[in-house]
Amino acid sequence: MGEVHWRELYHEVVDTGLCTGCAACVMACPRDVLGYTDDYFPVQIGEGMGHDECVIGDRGCDICTRACPRFRNWESEIDEALFGRPRRADEVYGHVRSILLTRTTDAGIAEVGQDGGLVSTLLTWGLEQEHIDGALTSAIVNDGRGPFDAEPTVVTTRDEVLATAGSRYTYSANPLAMAEAEERGLKQLALVGMSCQASINGSVDAYGVNKYKRKIALTIGLMCSKTFTYEGQQQVLADHGIAMEDVTKINIKGRYQVWTRDGGYHEIPLKLFHPYTREGCKLCPDFAAQHADISTGGIGADENWTLTLVRTARGEEWMRGVIDAGLVEARPGEDDEVAMNLLTKLSTVSRRRWPADRLPEPAGAPAMLPLAE
Ligand SMILES: Cc1cc2nc3c(=O)[nH]c(=O)nc-3n(C[C@H](O)[C@H](O)[C@H](O)COP(=O)(O)OP(=O)(O)OC[C@H]3O[C@@H](n4cnc5c(N)ncnc54)[C@H](O)[C@@H]3O)c2cc1C
Repeated sequence: MGEVHWRELYHEVVDTGLCTGCAACVMACPRDVLGYTDDYFPVQIGEGMGHDECVIGDRGCDICTRACPRFRNWESEIDEALFGRPRRADEVYGHVRSILLTRTTDAGIAEVGQDGGLVSTLLTWGLEQEHIDGALTSAIVNDGRGPFDAEPTVVTTRDEVLATAGSRYTYSANPLAMAEAEERGLKQLALVGMSCQASINGSVDAYGVNKYKRKIALTIGLMCSKTFTYEGQQQVLADHGIAMEDVTKINIKGRYQVWTRDGGYHEIPLKLFHPYTREGCKLCPDFAAQHADISTGGIGADENWTLTLVRTARGEEWMRGVIDAGLVEARPGEDDEVAMNLLTKLSTVSRRRWPADRLPEPAGAPAMLPLAE
């Protein structure tokens, strides 16, 4: 890829709306000339430079294009690198080794986890076993804004993992926390990230961004249809007489569920939030965190279980570790027909977002779907 750099990435991904704001390019930029806007987009911060200019790129640096999980034939090339082959058209949620329903046995995690608490259990176990010395997650911005606003953070202890458990429905570009992890000298990290961020697992592998390939010991993906703006959520909640600072938890399961400090529970139609979809989510084709080592979601008939897609050999090792240690209960995904059907349906819907005419796939590789109904 040596002949392409930031200019091509900017024109083909950022300028066209394909950029999800995952911040892989910002994380990987070796000269720190890429910044990140409040609207979750990468920008060139070199003084006096146009948005698409980069003097380092002009001299041949292409690391941003190689870290990006949306550049050119990203999907089939990442599939090849991680799984040895591109996917078949019917593999709408990507390559999987096994599909499980999982639930933590750790009472402290069960209390704060969003669904089955699998993600936080993997992190605490990984830290205790010294498979990792830190994890990139998302912290709640603690300024009285309720559990809405999130920012990337580094966690290194069980208490920190528990404090950052649960889901916020604003966007948090967790790869940005890599800078702090590096400053602190951490060497082996778990990356917890939205589906778009979880494809970094494959871009650093497929395109040889070796520094981060070595550092990221496990990628845990969060299945995701979209995130919403903070202001949009504030508006809809206010319309329903709910103040953000009174909210203790949100979940989205076909409807927007809100728990409040006074013990109240409210349901709001999800369609009211759609006008407040974050820009970077609008063309994202990946619901199922298709390139994570382990993908996690909350869809299904039963509350408090994490739908878990184990995709890679190292994902399998970690799952075996927590199950053998008695920290996680697991049963087959097929037990929950609702979850399996929704997984296919939501993955299919998201894949239709990708502009069909966008980029040519390499000869012989299957085209990125728009799928038939
Ligand atoms: C914005 C968003 C949208 C989602 N949409 C869906 C969906 O449509 N369908 C579905 O099945 N599942 C969805 N999920 C995943 C689901 O909410 C749970 O995260 C997943 O089931 C894991 O649950 P757990 O109890 O195992 O995780 P926990 O143990 O609670 O750990 C969750 C981890 O996610 C991190 N996190 C929380 N919020 C964010 C954020 N905004 N950005 C990055 N990291 C974050 C936390 O720091 C923590 O490490 C979504 C998650 C998020 C954050």
